[in-house]
Amino acid sequence: MRQDVAGKLRAISGEDWVVTDPAGVASYVKDETEHAIAPMPCYDCVVVKPKDSQEISGILKYANDEKITVVARGGGTGCAGAVVPIKPSIIIALERLNKIVEVDDKNMMVECEAGVTLSDLEETFTHHDSLFFPVHPGDEGAQVGGMVVQNAGGVRAVRHGVMRNHIKGLEVVLPTGEIIRTGGKLMKDNTGYDLTHLMIGSEGTLGIVTKVILKLYPKTTNSGSLLISFDDKKAAVEVVPKILREGIVPLAIEYLERDFMLRSAEDLGLQWPAQKGIVDLYFILVEPKEEDLLEISSRIVEICEANGAVESLIAETAKEQRAILEIRSHGYPSVKSQVVDILDVAIPVGNLSEYMNGVDELAAKYGAHIPSFGHAGDGNIHNFIMTETGEKPDNYEALSDDLFKLAISLGGTITAEHGVGKIRNRKLGLQYSQKHLEIMKGIKRVFDPNNILNPGTGIGCVD
Ligand SMILES: Cc1cc2nc3c(=O)[nH]c(=O)nc-3n(C[C@H](O)[C@H](O)[C@H](O)COP(=O)(O)OP(=O)(O)OC[C@H]3O[C@@H](n4cnc5c(N)ncnc54)[C@H](O)[C@@H]3O)c2cc1C
Repeated sequence: MRQDVAGKLRAISGEDWVVTDPAGVASYVKDETEHAIAPMPCYDCVVVKPKDSQEISGILKYANDEKITVVARGGGTGCAGAVVPIKPSIIIALERLNKIVEVDDKNMMVECEAGVTLSDLEETFTHHDSLFFPVHPGDEGAQVGGMVVQNAGGVRAVRHGVMRNHIKGLEVVLPTGEIIRTGGKLMKDNTGYDLTHLMIGSEGTLGIVTKVILKLYPKTTNSGSLLISFDDKKAAVEVVPKILREGIVPLAIEYLERDFMLRSAEDLGLQWPAQKGIVDLYFILVEPKEEDLLEISSRIVEICEANGAVESLIAETAKEQRAILEIRSHGYPSVKSQVVDILDVAIPVGNLSEYMNGVDELAAKYGAHIPSFGHAGDGNIHNFIMTETGEKPDNYEALSDDLFKLAISLGGTITAEHGVGKIRNRKLGLQYSQKHLEIMKGIKRVFDPNNILNPGTGIGCVD
């Protein structure tokens, strides 16, 4: 990185907020992507921690004039290498933009700065008497800005959808340095192209989000959970559309392969409560009235038992629910050293059983081990490509291509919530036509004529 860059950044953000020492920079160049497929980070970077959008505007104007690459950094919890700089870059860390600006009870909205973490947001609404924000991806270190541009989802998407469904307005600093506001606390807004929604899922390539307005919802106090076991993966996923068709919308329907859960439970010194079957569906239910909760629970058990369930357990106490969730959350860490890639495809829920069959067939064809768990209720089951050592097998590219083609052939998508980042760009052509790709590149050029913002991410490196 050029010597004068740090000096200019110090002039904008102050001496204390610029990091140039190699150890300091090293902690800002990686994310949570599996090491076998993660992009190679460039360490020749300088980190700056601006205090507000004005400083970010100054940095971007300077970088754009000098054609220096910039990467915005949120919590660094991404799983697609989006935040990893691959060229000498200015890394703009958003951590000082950490204020909740306003909780607007009357309009049921919260305005916050982009560096507010999911944990801060959860904490705010734990203490609020009647409102909450529903989206909850699995790592509470994620920042709201990162969740916006990654269009994060998570287990509660069955009922509440993804970030896109709750973002009402943004403040964004464009790569050329101008600050714009989009949307507002509105229920309707039909004025021109929707720039708010263009920013959502843009993976830090179109602008730096500095403020966000999110919609809030009344808290629902009655919750319960069910763990229902099956002998057969196909039978398990086939009940999902049957339940949804009855108008039952659980908070979450998670698909949990038993091997995964047993290993995780053993790791934690806990016991997985189900004994029978090879795969479980875990339902989290939240209803305004207790009687509705009981009625819906019974109906789910009935539907599952009519479709081959071999055991149904109700997690009655908060302690039982916590233990199941703890084991579920530890499922990934318990196998992390062997994971090569976590696929993030989504399939229409009615086609899940065909997809799971197809995955088994491809696993057999390639001699691969591909256990799965994830969000069955919204068709986003994560398939884990694993090896003993966690290193890529020789046939990794062919196997992952076939898995993506399978998903696409069933009306699916190659990434539901983790994003394209720097690991799926070369796969975009499997899903999109040349025309799609051309339109997306054109949009990128309009926002970022000098291609300074996070190049190599998303559509960025498909030529
Ligand atoms: C254990 C674990 C579980 C997870 N579970 C889920 C899950 O259930 N659902 C889900 O959707 N994801 C999940 N994730 C992925 C991750 O948490 C989300 O993608 C999250 O939205 C990333 O936010 P971040 O702040 O960490 O972003 P980062 O990783 O810091 O950045 C991601 C991208 O966003 C850009 N960016 C960050 N902040 C801004 C900003 N303010 N303006 C512009 N660009 C910005 C970066 O440049 C980069 O391109 C999980 C991750 C882990 C480690």
